[in-house]
Amino acid sequence: MSDQLTFTNPVTRFPDISPPKQDQPEPGLDAELIPGTDRGEKSYRGTGRLEGRRALITGADSGIGAAVAIAFAREGADVALNYLPQEEDAQHIAGVIREAGRTAVLLPGDLTDADFCRRLVEDAVEGLGGLDALVNNAGRQIAVESLEEIDDQQWEDTYAVNIHAMFRITQAALKHLPAGSTIVNSSSIQAYQPSPTLVDYASTKAAINNFTKGLAQQLAPRGIRVNAVAPGPIWTPLQVSDGQPKDALPEFGKSTPLGRAGQPTELAPAYVFLTSSESSYVLGETLAVTGGSPTP
Ligand code: NAD
Ligand code: MG
Repeated sequence: MSDQLTFTNPVTRFPDISPPKQDQPEPGLDAELIPGTDRGEKSYRGTGRLEGRRALITGADSGIGAAVAIAFAREGADVALNYLPQEEDAQHIAGVIREAGRTAVLLPGDLTDADFCRRLVEDAVEGLGGLDALVNNAGRQIAVESLEEIDDQQWEDTYAVNIHAMFRITQAALKHLPAGSTIVNSSSIQAYQPSPTLVDYASTKAAINNFTKGLAQQLAPRGIRVNAVAPGPIWTPLQVSDGQPKDALPEFGKSTPLGRAGQPTELAPAYVFLTSSESSYVLGETLAVTGGSPTP
């Protein structure tokens, strides 16, 4: 059985998919995505890099967050998972974490609620017996053709999930994080190459990069490292719950130099690296995982 450490051609490691047009209500479910995704259930092998760590991951039920949760557990971490209440995907990922012999704490709730963001941190600390890793990964992406079609609610919800929640959760977590702790934020290639249909979303991702670089300097003397990961086009439920115009789905990811969309499990090693102490001298970095699309 091959895993992420097997010598392989990145062009053909995963199939070049052409997803059919499809629609799911927000947030989408991995369980209903066509074709299905690889979150590492059968392909991610742990090597003890996060032994004994305690992590809170938002948006952890599906897509990239789910792949990160599986990888963290296989690397030896206990994991608290936040997601919009909707159990099917979350129960599946919790099962994989428990099979790895680690604790999974399920903390569903809506990150547009400021009080919930703060309670989430306290519940994660209680459920895990402490906290030393935070992954701000939840995201909202709704493609809209023209600026006039973005109403206040759409604009504010995108900023609430992608920016305000990251601030509130990080602030609430600080008093619990010992030296050696890490924070990793999910940015995007959109921070550098905004799509014309994603002006609200893409601008949050540029802000996440900037927040990451500023906060990394502020927290460095306390021994807390802050970094980000910028994924390229990754096949996840975000894309079919209005994250992309429907016409774009069959071509999704094909314009990257590798010529294919990424799978969620291909993101996991970047988050593991930035959370593990092996990256002790890496702070304020945004690690691009884009299939070769250039970033500054
Ligand atoms: P996904 O749909 O699997 O995950 C997003 C998750 O965010 C949802 O499952 C949901 O649980 C959570 N979420 C959304 N709104 C929420 C709310 N109000 N309260 C609580 N949770 C909420 O999609 P994904 O593609 O894995 O996205 C994960 C992150 O990766 C996002 O930040 C996204 O912007 C980023 N990203 C994705 C891609 C891509 O191509 N898929 C590219 C660049 C960046
Ligand atoms: Mg989901």
